[in-house]
Amino acid sequence: MPKRKKVLIFTGAGISAESGLRTFRGEDGLWNERRLEDVATPEAWARDPAMVLDFYNQRRKGVIAAQPNSAHTAITQLEEKYQVTVVTQNIDDLHERAGSSTVIHLHGNILEARSSIDRNHVVKVPPEGIRLTDACPHGSPLRPNVVWFGESIENYELAVCHFETADKILIVGTSLTVFPAAGLLQKARFKAEKVIVSLELENPPFGYQFIRGQATEVVPKLISRWLNES
Ligand code: NAD
Repeated sequence: MPKRKKVLIFTGAGISAESGLRTFRGEDGLWNERRLEDVATPEAWARDPAMVLDFYNQRRKGVIAAQPNSAHTAITQLEEKYQVTVVTQNIDDLHERAGSSTVIHLHGNILEARSSIDRNHVVKVPPEGIRLTDACPHGSPLRPNVVWFGESIENYELAVCHFETADKILIVGTSLTVFPAAGLLQKARFKAEKVIVSLELENPPFGYQFIRGQATEVVPKLISRWLNES
């Protein structure tokens, strides 16, 4: 049996927007009403942990209530023909719930909490959210298991490896403004087929075809084409 071609899917907040989860930037972006310095940095956590926990506890409720959309689902169908890896900047679990088998998170998972001194002590967040008094066995407070601005991202080398070896790359719903994640696009092979789907993008990187449109409209069509290629 011939070896399956490798497809790399790289997603950002835009793929979950049509599931009802707001993006950070853009017209309806979360950063229009909250300053990221107030809720998504280690300094914010040191200054006002209650505010940070409240922000993430609210957003976690939204994630739990949301459902995967047709873009998440179409991506799972690619597994019928290709070896598929999803690398996501998202902190939601909509790819997993849609049924993708390999999902690599670069910015953590909002459904988990971790010790503020031991990155490896990770627990599932209970339905009531993380409380100010919750602590790890060392006595340090539990915080959301997400990567804040100024912190190093997770699984970067693994993601590089998948970009470097992919035959096809599909980027969905990211503004490509958060580094080092956005820099991964430069790791792709010259001969790989590379497509970006988003509502807006000022300067698509060299070698990438940009398709402007909603993820739920464009992604299923593109994936159906890839599935029907001989
Ligand atoms: P971003 O908010 O910077 O950009 C979102 C991009 O998606 C924009 O370019 C926008 O044009 C596009 N977009 C919006 N709606 C779309 C749609 N329906 N179809 C296609 N494209 C659409 O998001 P980003 O680049 O992922 O920013 C990075 C950070 O945002 C990440 O660190 C991520 O953790 C965080 N974030 C995650 C979630 C989530 O997990 N669902 C939500 C908000 C922010």
